Amino acid sequence: MSRTVYVVPHCHWDREWYQPHELFRWRLVQMIDELLDYMEKHPEYRCFNLDGQSIVIDDYLDLRPENEGRLRALIESGRIVIGPWWVQPDEFLPSGESHIRSFQKGIRFAERLGGSLRVGHCADQFGHIAQMPQLMKQLGLTSACLWRGVSDAIPGWSFWWEAPDGTRLPVLYLRNSYSSGWRLPKEPEDLLERVHRQERDLADGLPAVLMNGTDHSRMEPHVPAALAAAKDRGYDFKLATLGEYEAAVFVAGIDEVVHHGEMRSPDRSNVLVGVLSARMNIKQRDFEVSGWLEKYAEPLELLNYLHHGPDGTPALRHAWRTLLENSPHDSICGCSVDQTHKEMFPRYDRAEQLARQVAKESMWHIAGRTSVPAPGGLAVFRPLRTPRRCCERTSRKTGRGTPSWSCLTASECRLRSSGRNGARSSSTRRTSRPGRPCATSTSCANSATTTTTSRRWSGSSMAATSR
Ligand SMILES: [Zn+2]
Repeated sequence: MSRTVYVVPHCHWDREWYQPHELFRWRLVQMIDELLDYMEKHPEYRCFNLDGQSIVIDDYLDLRPENEGRLRALIESGRIVIGPWWVQPDEFLPSGESHIRSFQKGIRFAERLGGSLRVGHCADQFGHIAQMPQLMKQLGLTSACLWRGVSDAIPGWSFWWEAPDGTRLPVLYLRNSYSSGWRLPKEPEDLLERVHRQERDLADGLPAVLMNGTDHSRMEPHVPAALAAAKDRGYDFKLATLGEYEAAVFVAGIDEVVHHGEMRSPDRSNVLVGVLSARMNIKQRDFEVSGWLEKYAEPLELLNYLHHGPDGTPALRHAWRTLLENSPHDSICGCSVDQTHKEMFPRYDRAEQLARQVAKESMWHIAGRTSVPAPGGLAVFRPLRTPRRCCERTSRKTGRGTPSWSCLTASECRLRSSGRNGARSSSTRRTSRPGRPCATSTSCANSATTTTTSRRWSGSSMAATSR
């Protein structure tokens, strides 16, 4: 029986690395311009995988807005494949919540343009966190596609990956990297030699894969002709998307090998361990800014909105977008040229400015609707992730003018509701926010905050252990 060889045209696009972002983006524009022109004229070049991240399309359309219709047509027909990530992040350094946001944003953007890949393509990440299978599965992905970090203990080209909570996800293992079919030979004999190398450790009857591309590579127009020239030599060649290769692996069956937890083995690929501490000021800024956004701005803004405060989500969305631009592996890992990292700090500053301002405005609005016992007091906000019965400490003046601290109960500290039916529903603004509004006018500021955030942060608490 002849083996089917899936040749997957693709590129891996680091947005910034040994060149700063704008220089790589200009190369991206040239690469996609060429790709569109060629694919429209040559239906036999049937597909191209744009690296499992959607932001590269956004980068392109910023400079080439006139080509949106052409791109959309190729994405809708399944010939250009984008998503599910927004960016290709390092998995260990940014917050767990940022991975969820990256997937959500990437999938939404890709679906607006015609459809998203459902394979969790992690081509170049320097190892993988233990919780990634549960993140991917809960976000609707069907498999992970990995290269770096997988140990020699994995014998084949597919396996099951089990997260700490027991979630299992199939893995398509790119055993010989995501560049195994780059510069595909034109001569049939040379092409067959490349295929033979891919067949090692691959059982009879199982599909083989050649990843036709590498970092910042351009399309190779000769590939359809090269595959046609090599046919009837014991192989059935298919130019395919990653999703089509996944379907073939599912039909053949995932190897009955289970890996539990994270993957950081250097057995078969470099995992660049030094990058976890390179340029430590970047890691520190990422921790600070993501903390402001996740732990203060968002919980307080939601609580404020549910009690008739203004909608702060445009600012928060922009802050998230700006922060996510710093999470790609070559950015946050500190392994790029100085100019690349210099450009990261203004992004952190901008995201932090918005997060702090939204948190501050939210506290003003909430405090303005909160009554405290006479003769006045100080409202202290603690946006915790766990419910608390005890409400606040309030500084009260004693008869002699000496401040003292006492703990208010929920019934002593009341949010005044200005709506007809109390707090407003989260669903009036955005259906993606889970949970009911923070209950009744008898809730205190702190307990309402913690109740709300504990519901919203169910995903984050799941991922937070990856930090
Ligand atoms: Zn990369």
